[in-house]
Amino acid sequence: MAGKKRIGVLALQGAFLEHQQVLSRLGCEALKARTRQDIMNIDGLIIPGGESTTIGRLLVDYDLGNIIREKAGEGMPVFGTCAGMVVLAREIVGSDQYRLGLMDMEVCRNAFGRQVESFEEDLTIKGIERPVHGIFIRAPYVTRVWGEAQALAEFEGKIVMVRQGHLLATSFHPELTEDTLLHEYFLSMV
Ligand code: GLN
Repeated sequence: MAGKKRIGVLALQGAFLEHQQVLSRLGCEALKARTRQDIMNIDGLIIPGGESTTIGRLLVDYDLGNIIREKAGEGMPVFGTCAGMVVLAREIVGSDQYRLGLMDMEVCRNAFGRQVESFEEDLTIKGIERPVHGIFIRAPYVTRVWGEAQALAEFEGKIVMVRQGHLLATSFHPELTEDTLLHEYFLSMV
């Protein structure tokens, strides 16, 4: 019998429990990833929403950035949601905060404006046959993609989902809905 997929959720700060719950429902071994050892022993990684500057600082403090880059370079799939998208981006508008810089995209933080703290929308996603409900909370959007990065969804002309090979990022929070489709999509990449 093939073993369960071992998926780590970066558990330094933010909404990691919700991702773990979805992954468990889908039959994965859902692990909190907090150490280099944890990162070395997983088949895929989710970087959750939260506060990207804090997550970045903790990645430095816990010395996890290089091992994540290394494993991603060897093909480990990584999925970043909201703050996780920011952490994955190569460029962040107006910020020199720490980032992994794995994805060829430029993001703008809190980009939908302060007056719209949060909102929900049904999104059409390239390659997915039905709409996905997106919950946006002080969400970033992507201002530019290049290289291998491909925009998969837009809202009001702004890019809100990007895939680059085995790397995936969304502006919104799929872990906060009952719909597990995006996690299934990610797991199909693992
Ligand atoms: N605005 C936050 C940031 O850039 C992200 C918010 C979220 O993850 N819900 O860090």
